[in-house]
Order: sequence, then structure tokens, then C-alpha cells
Amino acid sequence: MGKTLQDIQRKDLLQSQGFIDDEWVGASSGATFSVYDPATLDKIATIPEMNAVDVDKAVTAAHRAFQSYKKTSARQRARWLRKWSDLCLENADDLALILTLENGKTLAEAKGEVIYAASFLEWFAGEAERVHGQVVPPANLNQRILTFKQPIGVAACLTPWNFPIAMITRKVGAALAAGCTTVWKPAGETPLSALAQAVLAHEAGFPKGSINVITTLNTVAEVGEALCKNDLVRKVSFTGSTRVGKLLASQCSATLKKLSLELGGNSPFIVFDDANLETAVEACINAKFRNSGQTCVTANRIFVQKGVYHEFADKLSKKIQALKIGPGTEEGVNVGPLTHDRAVEKALNHINDAKKHGGQIVLGGSSVPDLKGYFLQPTLIKNMNRQMLTTREETFAPVVGLYEFATEDEVLELANDCDVGLGSFIITESMARAWRVTEGLEVGMVGVNLGMLSASESPFGGVKHSGYGREGGTQGIEEYLHIKSMLINVAN
Ligand code: NAD
Repeated sequence: MGKTLQDIQRKDLLQSQGFIDDEWVGASSGATFSVYDPATLDKIATIPEMNAVDVDKAVTAAHRAFQSYKKTSARQRARWLRKWSDLCLENADDLALILTLENGKTLAEAKGEVIYAASFLEWFAGEAERVHGQVVPPANLNQRILTFKQPIGVAACLTPWNFPIAMITRKVGAALAAGCTTVWKPAGETPLSALAQAVLAHEAGFPKGSINVITTLNTVAEVGEALCKNDLVRKVSFTGSTRVGKLLASQCSATLKKLSLELGGNSPFIVFDDANLETAVEACINAKFRNSGQTCVTANRIFVQKGVYHEFADKLSKKIQALKIGPGTEEGVNVGPLTHDRAVEKALNHINDAKKHGGQIVLGGSSVPDLKGYFLQPTLIKNMNRQMLTTREETFAPVVGLYEFATEDEVLELANDCDVGLGSFIITESMARAWRVTEGLEVGMVGVNLGMLSASESPFGGVKHSGYGREGGTQGIEEYLHIKSMLINVAN
């Protein structure tokens, strides 16, 4: 028997209301929705179903707070962020349990996400004080020119269900560091992690109105549109599907908001003949099975050069067979459930489509009837080809599909033959090849001889239909700033 909500030590971290202007509040309509544990399908919370009226209240509060928050010193904002980071780490076990119960990932992974989330707060605490302007050499010697950066205004942070804690801190940490106030809109499947973060951010000392949380599941289209169309919101940052990202971009056009979009990917994972196969297998397991395959940079198309294709497949197959599937709250489990029923449906559709087009199912291939939740067997498919759905769309599930290739040029052409470009992975012992292929890939991020691309100090984001803007790194805070130039007449 795994842990339950009863095992949470700090009960006040479990909030079941939205947060507006320093108050825990229900929806103005009185409506609610339910949150379920995807491993057991047990209901774990009832949460306010907020709407455009609540959005208006939250944005008004954030805008009011912005008038004084923008004047706080960067040093003070850094102190609040550091305190929030410390509180995350102090409460890591409770936060991990809340995360596992609503998202499904294993407790070990959830704890890793809490640490990763805290690292963004620490990183942006440092960045807050490094927002520098320039002194520009003037062409007209009667002038002096300088630039400085100012917070853009109210930022709306729309976060996904796959990393419900880390995506809050990656966006909100940058916004608060820059001097922006915030309205958070967590995914309806996983609002509890965001609400627990609001408790800790408040405790860290952020002023009234600087953090606000709108909760929604079924009213998400109304809430999203209200945030995008409100002129007081000057920045929208969204992580989620390309479909929704494009919709938000169109809704933001009327008010010309600054927008960051971190959308879907279709990451190539390329194993060359000269790879260390132990490294390749370990990296593939990390890139594919973390969060049951539900990461935006999950390896989706695994290209293996023909000299090592069968050997890699055999080694990988052995590792996959050793993975234990079950509720993330149970000891020893490596692969938890998917987060919602649509995800299982999508993965089964991709598996059946691969079979229809000549794919050979080596392992798995179906759901897990003995387990009540949204489980899918870890699946390995050989003989993948371009006709298959997985080639064009990310599967977002623990499904590994192997494609065979012959040459470096061929694999670059295959890897770039898609409309998105977020993450990618290269496994090779040749540094020259790693450089060449990195330069040739149409993506935002490349991992060499590893299976994880996430670090608070490294810019994260994509190209093509994977969106634009960068989170983390020195670039992350820039998304929440605008540049003002000042020209001074110094003529006598
Ligand atoms: P979806 O398109 O239904 O929803 C994605 C997210 O957008 C959710 O968090 C939801 O709360 C929000 N959303 C939905 N409609 C919205 C609207 N009108 N306005 C504002 N927000 C809205 O996607 P899904 O079924 O949850 O996932 C589908 C696919 O999207 C996945 O299989 C995966 O490929 C991709 N995805 C990517 C990421 C990522 O980290 N980049 C995260 C989640 C999903």
C-alpha cells in the first residue's frame, strides 16, 4: 500500500481554493471540479471552477500590486525568491507526495522535480540583480544614450500537468525576479501542486497581490481567452500543446502581448555506430521513461545506425523488462500511470498505427487491466518508418519506437523532417560528429551522451512549431522585461 494524502505532514500545503489578492477564495459562480489520482482513479480534491469574472479580479489585484512591486529593489526580490526556494526544499517530501498523487510520477521523480523547481528560484534570485542596461557610444556627440530594463507588467503563467511544480517556478520565478506581478493558471489535472507553491511563496514574503492562482478544468477556454484578451496582462507564458499555443497566440494578438510558448516536441534520439551502447541505453531509458514518457523533450523517434541496431535493441529490451510499473507512491516503482485517460488512448492509437504499417512489437503494446489507473505497459517497437503516426506526432507515453538508418546525412534529413523542434539527443564517441550533427539539427536543445536536458542555468525552448522564447538561463528573465532607451542632450 502506497502513501496517501493522510501522510502529508504540513496539512496547510493542501489547499482546495484559488488565491486572489492574498485571500483563499472559491469560484465566483460557486462551481467546482474534481481532481483524481491517476494511479487509483480515487477522487483526491474538489477545486473551484473559476471563470472570466475571477480572472478579472485576479488581474486587477495583480495590476494594483504591480504599482508598488515594480519599485521594490532587486535585492529584496532576490531574498524572497531564496526564501521560497528554501521552503520548497524544507517541504520537499510533502510537495513530492502531492505531486505524485495528482500527476502519477514516482515519488523519487517527484522529489527530483521539487529540487529542480527550487533551483529555478535560486537561479532567478541571482539573475534579479543582474538586469543590466548599456551605455551606447553616440554618433551625435551632442547626445548621450543609455538603455535600461523595466518589468513588463502583469504576467500570466499557464502551466502544464506534466511538471506542475517546476513549470510554476521556471515562469513565476523569472517574472517575480524581473519585478512583474503574476496570475498563475495551473492545468486542471494538477492544481494542488501550484496551490501548495502559492502557500510557500506567500510565506516567503511576496507582497499582497503579487501572486494569484486561478483554478479551472472545464472552463479553461474561457479563462485562457480572458487572460489573453485582458489589456492589463502584458505577458503570457504558456507550456503545453502546440494546438493550444497557437490558439493563445491568436488571442493575444489584439492586445499585442509579449508571449513565450514552450510547446510540443518530437525529439530525435540518435545512436551512432560509434556510440558507447551502455551510455546509449541509460540515456534512452532516462529520455523515454521519465514521467512515463510525458516530458516535452521525451525521445520520440529513436534512430539507430544499422551497425548497432540489433545489439542496441537487445540491450534496451533487457532494461525495459526490468522496469517495474505501478502507482508512483509505491516503493521500487519505475514507471507510474499516465496523467489522464486521453493520454492512454493516444498512445494505443499510435501503437496500433505502427503495427498496421509494419512495426514489430517487441515488448508491451497494451494497457494494464490489473491496475485500475491510466497505465500503459512499457512498449518497445522495431521497424518504425515514416508512414507511422509517431513519426509526425509525439506519443507522450512509455513507448519506444526504433528506426534504422545508414548515414549521418540520412539521419539529419529524417530528424529534421518534422514541423516541430524542441529537444534532441545524440549518442556518439566522436566529438567532431557531435558538433556537426548539433549544428545540423533544427531544434532548440541538443543533449550529447545523456538523456536529460533540464538545468536552471541552461536556456530551454524550441524552434518551428515548438514555439518561441526561452526559459531559464540568462535569457529567462528577459522574457519579463522591456528595454527603455534614454537620449540626453549634452550640448552647451
Ligand atoms: P491539451 O491541448 O488539451 O491541453 C494542454 C494544456 O493547455 C493543458 O494544461 C490545459 O489546461 C491547457 N489548455 C487547454 N485548452 C486551453 C485554452 N483554450 N486556453 C488556455 N489553456 C488551455 O493537451 P493535452 O491533452 O493535455 O496534451 C496533448 C498533447 O500536448 C500531449 O500529448 C503532448 O504532446 C502535448 N503537451 C506538451 C506539454 C509540454 O510540456 N510541452 C505539456 C502537456 C501536453
